[in-house]
Amino acid sequence: MRLVFASNNAHKLAEVRAMMPAGVEVLSLKEIGFEQEIDETGLTLEENSAIKAKAVYEWLLVNGRLGIDGVFADDTGLEIDALEGRPGVYTARWYREDDAGAVLNDEMMIFKANRAKALRELKGRADRGCQFRTVISLIRKPTPSLPEGKELIQVAGIVRGRIAESEYGEGGFGYDPIFIPEGYDKTFGELPAEVKNQISHRARAIEELVKVL
Ligand code: IMP
Repeated sequence: MRLVFASNNAHKLAEVRAMMPAGVEVLSLKEIGFEQEIDETGLTLEENSAIKAKAVYEWLLVNGRLGIDGVFADDTGLEIDALEGRPGVYTARWYREDDAGAVLNDEMMIFKANRAKALRELKGRADRGCQFRTVISLIRKPTPSLPEGKELIQVAGIVRGRIAESEYGEGGFGYDPIFIPEGYDKTFGELPAEVKNQISHRARAIEELVKVL
């Protein structure tokens, strides 16, 4: 089975490839020649993951790449209990709420600025509980056995944890150096990738995805 992963995030791609069972080939956007920017205009993780999967699926239809069995996209949010679930759908660019809406271009700088924002927001607070939530949208190629209108499927994965007092470790990406998963005393930035890839929000969502493939 050949699926396209509708993401330009190399970290997510590496994780997803490590999680998929043998027999499922995951192609990147680069590999299929998709170079457009997709505007994530949705107000929920569900909407944004569907927007990404649909954009790439429609592109495949136009470009005649039908040797592909489906497209899936992941949208992930950090949901902090003490902030009523923020930043949620705004996780990727949370730092922009401060610094008069400054716009950074370098991915590592963005990740760092986002982590600094999280640490500022929770400064002095004891309640540091939070979760990562991933929603995956899969659009399957229509087949005679797939009822019309059932091409889009959504699955989700959650990992509970807490925000550390400061940054620890350099592994992973994004908020990993400040996220301590439940049952551990180290951040995703410190834990080996194999551990993150077994217990993470993305791992749990991929587990659900594999059940419906
Ligand atoms: P999106 O799903 O690409 O919109 O991801 C939103 C943002 O969430 C990313 O830019 C990262 O900052 C963060 N993020 C997504 N997945 C992870 C993860 O596995 N660990 C840490 N941060 C993540």
